[in-house]
Amino acid sequence: MCSGRVDLEFVLRAFSNGMDGVFIGGCRLNECNYTTHGNYDALNMVLLCKRLMEHIGLNPERLRIAFMSSAEGNLFAEVMDEFGDKVNELGPLGKAEGIDPNELKSKLAEIIKLVPYIKLTKNEKLASRLEKSEEWDRLFTKDEIDRLFSEVISYYIDPEKCQACMICARRCPVEAITGAKNQVHVIDQEKCIKCGTCFEACPAKFGAVVKITGRPVPPPIPERERTIERVNEPEA
Ligand code: SF4
Ligand code: SF4
Repeated sequence: MCSGRVDLEFVLRAFSNGMDGVFIGGCRLNECNYTTHGNYDALNMVLLCKRLMEHIGLNPERLRIAFMSSAEGNLFAEVMDEFGDKVNELGPLGKAEGIDPNELKSKLAEIIKLVPYIKLTKNEKLASRLEKSEEWDRLFTKDEIDRLFSEVISYYIDPEKCQACMICARRCPVEAITGAKNQVHVIDQEKCIKCGTCFEACPAKFGAVVKITGRPVPPPIPERERTIERVNEPEA
């Protein structure tokens, strides 16, 4: 019902499924009937997505957002005709940009996996309400997005410090942490969406979850070495 419901992941998934262009239509800005003004959310998401597309070498003109009322059928037809022509002119996704299809698929998959992290990191800007279209291009910059990817945070559980209290595993929203009673916990980096919940949840007295940036995450310790031998149970 609302353009604000169009998630960044939906758009990236459409491209990953081979769509050559994605169009999002929203109500006119400042004419939303609700206090939420979801069309600004949609606009900010599109501005961010365009920069992400640039980052992986896709032409950002493949994505468009336009605002109009339901009484503006002529305008809708005009915008769609023009966008259809533009997408035809750009040609097939990836091929026109000289990106190998498999490489494009894996780049998009990598970004899709990072969507929760990207949204968390850009939370404040995603809540902006920029009324002047001249300001839109400046909301997110290319350098900012390049930096975002070069400084991606990973989370790692230090096996020397983990006391197997199981709090992090219970709180992880994607079940990326494996472990059991008296077993050092381990993060599956493939499943982890970098939400940081485990970092916040691990009791300060253990401080076992470490943030890592700019260097590889150490490999998980072998399963046979994960058992914690102790006399007393840890207090969570
Ligand atoms: S950061 Fe921690 S809690 Fe969040 S998904 Fe990764 S392992 Fe799970
Ligand atoms: S919350 Fe900390 S100490 Fe507890 S299992 Fe997770 S990493 Fe280990």
